[in-house]
Amino acid sequence: MPTEQALIKRSNHSCELCTANENLTVFPVPPTSDLSAQQCILLCQTCQNQIEGGAELDINHWRCLNDSMWSQEPAVQVVSYRMLHKLSSESWAQDALEMIYMEDDVKTWAEQGIAAEQREGPTRDSNGAELNDGDDVTLIKDLKVKGANFTAKQGTLVRGITLTDNPEHIEGKVNGTRIVLVSAYLKKA
Ligand SMILES: [Zn+2]
Repeated sequence: MPTEQALIKRSNHSCELCTANENLTVFPVPPTSDLSAQQCILLCQTCQNQIEGGAELDINHWRCLNDSMWSQEPAVQVVSYRMLHKLSSESWAQDALEMIYMEDDVKTWAEQGIAAEQREGPTRDSNGAELNDGDDVTLIKDLKVKGANFTAKQGTLVRGITLTDNPEHIEGKVNGTRIVLVSAYLKKA
């Protein structure tokens, strides 16, 4: 059976997160989906737009996760878990995350997606070399350090850098001050 038909049958023609009945489309679960019904869910446009990040999160809409997280379908559990994780600044979402039950392999699948989303790619220096925590780097140009009132000179060695959530920035100590440096202005030492 084609995936779309299988999903419509499985969901009884409704969004598998919020149960809306209109504008339903097949959503392959990231980061990799073989496009089978096991790795796709049926979503309404509202859910899909917010999951893909095009639309702002409407927190009240996502109260539906309190129900969808109990779905028997691993793919629905996975997407519910990831959305709850995104909303985990809300206390109800945190409560739900504590209650949600998933088999170990389903949980691994859910967390893979979160990790893939958070890591926008490796941090690279000006030559495209990958940077890691603890690396030493040198500055390839003079950098005015905002707020610290000094210029970090070209050629300055920064020891033991720390990566940040943003691949374009690292943290390191220059002149005894911990500052954020732009990866593209660095060279691995
Ligand atoms: Zn929906």
